Amino acid sequence: MSLDVSKFMENVVAKNPAEPEFHQAVEEVIKSLAPFVNANPKYLEQGLLERIVEPERVISFRVPWVDDNGQVQVNRGYRVQFNGAIGPYKGGLRFAPNVTQGTLKFLGFEQTFKNSLTGLPMGGGKGGADFNGIGKSDAEVMRFCQSFMSELYRHVGPDTDVPAGDIGVGAREIGFLFGQYKKLVNRYEGVLTGKGLTYGGSLGRTEATGYGVAYFTDHVLQKNGLGTFEGKTVTISGAGNVGCYLIEKINAMGGKVVTVADPFGYVYVPTGVTAEHLEFLKPLWAVYRRPIKDFATEYGFEYREGRRAWEVPCDVAIPTACQNELDGNDAKTLLANGVKAVVEAANMPSTKEAVDAFVDAKIPFGPGKAANAGGVAVSGMEMSQNSMRYNWTKEEVLDKLQGVMLGIHNTCVEHGTKEDGYINYVDGANIGGFVKVADAMLAQGIV
Ligand code: GLU
Repeated sequence: MSLDVSKFMENVVAKNPAEPEFHQAVEEVIKSLAPFVNANPKYLEQGLLERIVEPERVISFRVPWVDDNGQVQVNRGYRVQFNGAIGPYKGGLRFAPNVTQGTLKFLGFEQTFKNSLTGLPMGGGKGGADFNGIGKSDAEVMRFCQSFMSELYRHVGPDTDVPAGDIGVGAREIGFLFGQYKKLVNRYEGVLTGKGLTYGGSLGRTEATGYGVAYFTDHVLQKNGLGTFEGKTVTISGAGNVGCYLIEKINAMGGKVVTVADPFGYVYVPTGVTAEHLEFLKPLWAVYRRPIKDFATEYGFEYREGRRAWEVPCDVAIPTACQNELDGNDAKTLLANGVKAVVEAANMPSTKEAVDAFVDAKIPFGPGKAANAGGVAVSGMEMSQNSMRYNWTKEEVLDKLQGVMLGIHNTCVEHGTKEDGYINYVDGANIGGFVKVADAMLAQGIV
């Protein structure tokens, strides 16, 4: 018995039509796994691979709400409970107009491996809605969140499924969702993570994803003989929660971040984003809902509308926004400009062509499911604290986070080092994340 990748993928595509992002995420994992499972044939038994690419449950529901003009709006909500072999389903909610079932299946699949890599007992899930929060009032967002939770509450719980934030779901949305859940079930429990500090949130959760990416990238640079962040020029493609804390930690480690962006364009900051800039940037979208262009105007930097940060020469590129935001041409540009390492802060931001280009060029490439796992890792710690009804200090949380990111890096090195010494972090993350989930599934029988 051996795994035929093309045949396997033909079945996945036929069974999941019109879900190209899901196909892309599965194909990447299955390609990484092929040599490993062929050498360890127990993983080809019990229909394990066929089961692991099939979500355990997909819930789709109507989300009706009334806008400020009294008009009824209808969105579609989802929760994809992908894999619960190693713990309750865990993963964020994404509210964005381009959200489809296929998007959330790709994200739930990725989350399964990411969560396993953290070493914490969390299964994989993802959810969200095709809701566009841009231009909506706080009251509209509240009514939407309440309607969304009026259905979701039946399917989630602290030992069942614990959602969190993702694109379009931040502190404000988590607060509204938590309030509605509590009202409906009449229990005060850790059903969501990323909560505010006054109602069960964890210190360090806000910083966790960005800091975690910086810690992971630091390990990548050092392990590959590239030094540290000291003196390095870095480009990123966001400026939200992940981007701001990533910049903060890169600055602390001696690097210089020369771009920040939003979906509409990027700002070039040749002298590097400073702590003062960060004080302006942190609430820019999260509180004031203003575009990145306003940052350029405020400080007199150049705003490049409709363009991507990857045209700026850098040592390290860190895509920070959304899936497939960095394509084969961007990869060529980055390589021609001498990029030394690429690490993903977002989920699957590099296209297949881009990943292949980086790996073919033998530069270290850190995939999102390894590099950005710090966010969900601290979510796992928030769950632990909620269960204990106790709070750790920020230092305790960030210490644990550093341990988790080092552990993930070591797992990638263990499973991804090739005969010529090149560390293929994609293979390392996919195999490393797979083993624990697969062993748990084999132990639990055909369920
Ligand atoms: N949405 C984040 C992710 O992609 C965080 C998920 C969580 O904290 O549950 O990992």
